[in-house]
Amino acid sequence: MSDVTEPTSQILLCSNCFTDEGLRIDAAKHGLEQQGECPNCQSPDGQKLTQEHILDLAWRFFVSGTTVRSDYGAAPVIQFNEYHYGRSDITPSAWLANDMKLIEEAAKIGFFHYGPRLWMVGEVEPLKALQDPATRPQLIERVLREYPEIIFSKGRKFYRLRVNPDHPANPFEYDSPPVAFAGRGRLDSPGFSVMYGSQDLDVCIHECRASTEDELYVATLQSQQDLKLLDLSYPLKESENEFESLDMAIHMLFLARSHSYEIARDIALAAKLAGFDGVIYPSFFSLIRTGSHPFETVYGMSVRHYHQEREKYVEATTIRNLALFGRPMEIGLVSVECINRLILTQVGYRGHFGPVEY
Ligand SMILES: [Zn+2]
Repeated sequence: MSDVTEPTSQILLCSNCFTDEGLRIDAAKHGLEQQGECPNCQSPDGQKLTQEHILDLAWRFFVSGTTVRSDYGAAPVIQFNEYHYGRSDITPSAWLANDMKLIEEAAKIGFFHYGPRLWMVGEVEPLKALQDPATRPQLIERVLREYPEIIFSKGRKFYRLRVNPDHPANPFEYDSPPVAFAGRGRLDSPGFSVMYGSQDLDVCIHECRASTEDELYVATLQSQQDLKLLDLSYPLKESENEFESLDMAIHMLFLARSHSYEIARDIALAAKLAGFDGVIYPSFFSLIRTGSHPFETVYGMSVRHYHQEREKYVEATTIRNLALFGRPMEIGLVSVECINRLILTQVGYRGHFGPVEY
């Protein structure tokens, strides 16, 4: 029996031990309501923290809280582990210095400046090949070959949201915008309209960045025949590491901002040429909606890539969107079954804190 390395239920600290306000609030939110004095600060009314609570708190505040996005990918500036115990190289703000020591001593860990493995910030060969217009067509051929085709069967429902439509009761308001307006989104391009929708209504609300001041209408649409879709949200099974991974490249592509659109648009055009009616793709808001951390790693290895229950992990952290090519309502591929006005009563944000300097 080991009482040294196993996390125990022993109380080590409490939320009142901390000076940093963000750290204190986070500890209070996740700690235990438990009678008795804190063994460290003797306060009776802080939320109590076991070693496990302290490790979670350390990860949220110092790792997730220092994660910086790059053009593609994201990586934390700080990491911690047991090997750096007593060898920390962080220089925190004055109000955080003692808090950090308390955490390091209680959990027997050390914080250090993390040099990310470069795949985390987009050094992924297939992604680099997609960014280069000279090699892009070759990579897109591979995408079409390796990603699976799925059938969105006749009669299946999905939602499409419109912000401030001119004639909300007119079904044709919910078709793709006319070609003259195409070329502003992730997958549509000049001369090529795309209908964006989702089977998750909350995703529709996120995707159109609606606010409480907008007039919103949601159409319930239904496919009128089996639709052939390219599933870009599928976790590819690969033997390559993260640096060579096409799966990681596509995952990063759809979590990137508008600088990535030209690549996604070329993939959509190629899928259209190859006879697909549309694509399924991971939502940019997957991380926000599922509360997951971008490009999560354990000892520098991608969790998405190496997770033991990979498909379950991907399922739990991915929100799927639907994009249909052209104007599917006009040509009878989909029909409007119902239109509702949508009233937003609450727009929620949840968050946690991180340090300001290190
Ligand atoms: Zn305390």
